[in-house]
Amino acid sequence: MATFHIWTLGCQMNQADSLKLAAGLNQLGYNETSSEDDADLFVINTCSVRQRAEDRAYSKLGVLRKQRELGRKIQIAVMGCMVGPKTDDLEHRFPVVDVWARPQEFDPILNLVQRAGTSIDRDISEGDIDNTLIQMSSTFGVPNGPTAYVPVIHGCDKFCTYCIVPLRRGREESRASKDIFSEVQHLAKHGVHEITLLGQTVEAYGHDLENEHSDLATLFEGIEAIDGIFRTRFLTSYPKDMTDRIIDAVADLPKVCEHFNIPVQSGSNSMLERMRRGYRVEDFEDRVAKIRSRMPSAAIATDVIVGCPGETASEFQATVDLLERINFDVIHVAAYSPRPGTYAYRKLEDDVPNEVKKERLHVIEGIHAGSSQRINQRLLGDTVEVLVERETDGRSTGRTHHGQLVHFDAVNRIGDLVEVTIDEVSPWSLRGREVNDLTLPLV
Ligand code: SF4
Repeated sequence: MATFHIWTLGCQMNQADSLKLAAGLNQLGYNETSSEDDADLFVINTCSVRQRAEDRAYSKLGVLRKQRELGRKIQIAVMGCMVGPKTDDLEHRFPVVDVWARPQEFDPILNLVQRAGTSIDRDISEGDIDNTLIQMSSTFGVPNGPTAYVPVIHGCDKFCTYCIVPLRRGREESRASKDIFSEVQHLAKHGVHEITLLGQTVEAYGHDLENEHSDLATLFEGIEAIDGIFRTRFLTSYPKDMTDRIIDAVADLPKVCEHFNIPVQSGSNSMLERMRRGYRVEDFEDRVAKIRSRMPSAAIATDVIVGCPGETASEFQATVDLLERINFDVIHVAAYSPRPGTYAYRKLEDDVPNEVKKERLHVIEGIHAGSSQRINQRLLGDTVEVLVERETDGRSTGRTHHGQLVHFDAVNRIGDLVEVTIDEVSPWSLRGREVNDLTLPLV
C-alpha cells in the first residue's frame, strides 16, 4: 500500500490542515508513515511568518531533490503559507515539486494521488474534507490524543504592515456553525475532550456569514452541549474584535477555559500606528480590564514584536512598561523579520540593528520569566485539575484549565482529568503529584 508523510511547520492552523489532508489521503488508500525515508508521497506544510521557517522548507526540498536524483521514487507536494496565489516563481525555482497547494486547498494534492492511481476506487475532493459525510463515516481527522484544533475562520482582513498572513491565507472566511458542531461531535465520539477553536483573529468569527447570525459566543454555547467535550479553548484573539458578549460567554460557560491569547505587539501608540494594528494601548488595556473584572484569575498571554521598523528606545520602553503593568501569564516575543510582499517590507526600512533587536528580545524574555514565575508561584501547594495529554517514561503531562503545563508521575491516564497537587514551579511548567498519590513530594 502506498504511504505518505506530512512534515508540518508553523502554527496550529497548519497542524489542523495536515490532519485533514491525512484523513483525505487515508480515504484514498494511502497509509501514513512516520518515516520520512519510506514515504511514496512527501508533503511539506509550510510557514512563512519568518524567514527561518521558509529556509527550513527550502533545505528539505534540497534533500528531497538529491534523493530523487539518486533514484528515489517519490512524489513531492508543498502546501501552506509559502504558496501564494501565483506559483510561477516557485515552480521555476523548485521543479522537483509535483504539486503546490495553498492553505486549506487540498484538491491539488488529492488529485495528484488520484491521478497516480490508488488502491481505493473513490473520488474525493476538498469539498468533502469539510463535509460532514466523511467525518461521520470514519475516524476522519482525529488526532492521536485527547486535544484537537478546529479551525473556525480562515484568513485575515486586518493587514498589519509586517504580516504576510493575509497575503497568503486570503480574506476572512468563516465556516458554517453546523459544520463546526458536526466536527466537534465527531471528535468527541473518538476520544477528544478538549477543543481549541482556531482563527488568525478568532473573535471575527461569523461576521461574514450570510445565512446565519453566529459569533464566537454562539460556538461556545453550542459546544457546551456536546457530551465528551470537557474544555473549549480559542486562539488567536484580536483586541478590537473581542466583544463584551464573548468575554461574558467565557466567564459564564463552565467548559470555556479562562485563558486568553491576545497579541498586543507593542506598548507604544506610535508603533501600533506604524504596524496598522487598528487599536491604541488604551483599547487593549480596556479589554484586559473587562476580562479581569469578570474573571480575576483569568490567564492572559500575549505576543510582542521587538525591533519593528523605526522602533525607538522610548517606544520599546513603552512596551516594557505595559508588560510590567499588565503582568501577563505568558509573553511570546519575536524579533521583527521583514517578509517580502508586506507593506513594511516595501515601504519601511528595517533600521533597528540586529544586536539591538536581540537585546530587546532578552529584556522581554526576562520580564516573561519573572511574571510567569510570580503567577505560577501562587499555585504552590494548590490542587489543580489537569487534562492528561501524553505520557513518557512513567511521567504524565497535561495542562490546567488556565493552560499551565503540569508534569506528574502516573501511567495510563491519557485523556483523564486528574487532580494534581503542585509541589514545584518554574516559569515554564509545574510539577506535582496526583491527589491520592501518598508518596512524599520530590522537593
Ligand atoms: S491580525 Fe495582523 S498579525 Fe494577525 S494575522 Fe492578521 S494581519 Fe497578521
